[in-house]
Amino acid sequence: TTRQLVVSEKLAAVGEIAAGIAHEVNNPIQVIQGNLDVMRVELGGDADRVGTELRLIDEQVHSIFLIVNKLLQFTRPDEYAEGMEHHRPSDVMADTIPLVQHLLNKAEIALVINTPSQKAVAINRTELQQVFINLIVNAIHAMPEGGTLTLSVLDADDGIAIAVQDTGVGMSPNVLARIFDPFFTTKKGEGTGLGLSITRKLVELYGGSIEAESEAGTGTIFRVSFPEAGDV
Ligand code: ADP
Repeated sequence: TTRQLVVSEKLAAVGEIAAGIAHEVNNPIQVIQGNLDVMRVELGGDADRVGTELRLIDEQVHSIFLIVNKLLQFTRPDEYAEGMEHHRPSDVMADTIPLVQHLLNKAEIALVINTPSQKAVAINRTELQQVFINLIVNAIHAMPEGGTLTLSVLDADDGIAIAVQDTGVGMSPNVLARIFDPFFTTKKGEGTGLGLSITRKLVELYGGSIEAESEAGTGTIFRVSFPEAGDV
């Protein structure tokens, strides 16, 4: 429809602007980071004196770097999929857990893993891992008082069925309807609102689909399905 066309043209324009800004911001960040490292070396033992200040600057530069990186990912041309190989989502899921383990411990979240599927997907491994990390980190954010995170990778008739389920705060229907919109976030000041739009873009790039079910106060389940690749 015309409305959909207008919306997608608007999104493309936003994407182009974002990419432009991200590229421009990237260079000064590299310079700041480089000079910070030089300063620390020059100060030698004296670096301890301004240790807290240096660390604060470092952390903030790093967080700008993360935001810019997300923007660049979001705006990556989706015509080509880089480094496509066959990977088992169950293996990639297993490799992702150590990366988020400290967050799970900190929030006292129990982990249930059910990943028997041995089927593979034709996909870039880093991007599949990015999809898992985005969904898992969101689930952790939804369970500030603890809870259970359930990860499953199962064989389905038409491919592979992945689910990331939490027992967290859940979402109202109004929020649920907008979660895949770029820049939509309920994490004021802390979220970019890009995680799920990037996630959906990546999943669809490799022929998959993603959907969410949620109930406020009960929890949320994200289901991702991929078509199976040929034999590994
Ligand atoms: P961000 O995490 O930066 O806000 P996302 O695109 O990843 O951006 O998510 C958009 C919004 O979707 C979040 O701000 C939150 O309101 C909602 N959301 C995503 N995952 C969950 C979840 N597991 N439980 C509850 N709300 C969620």
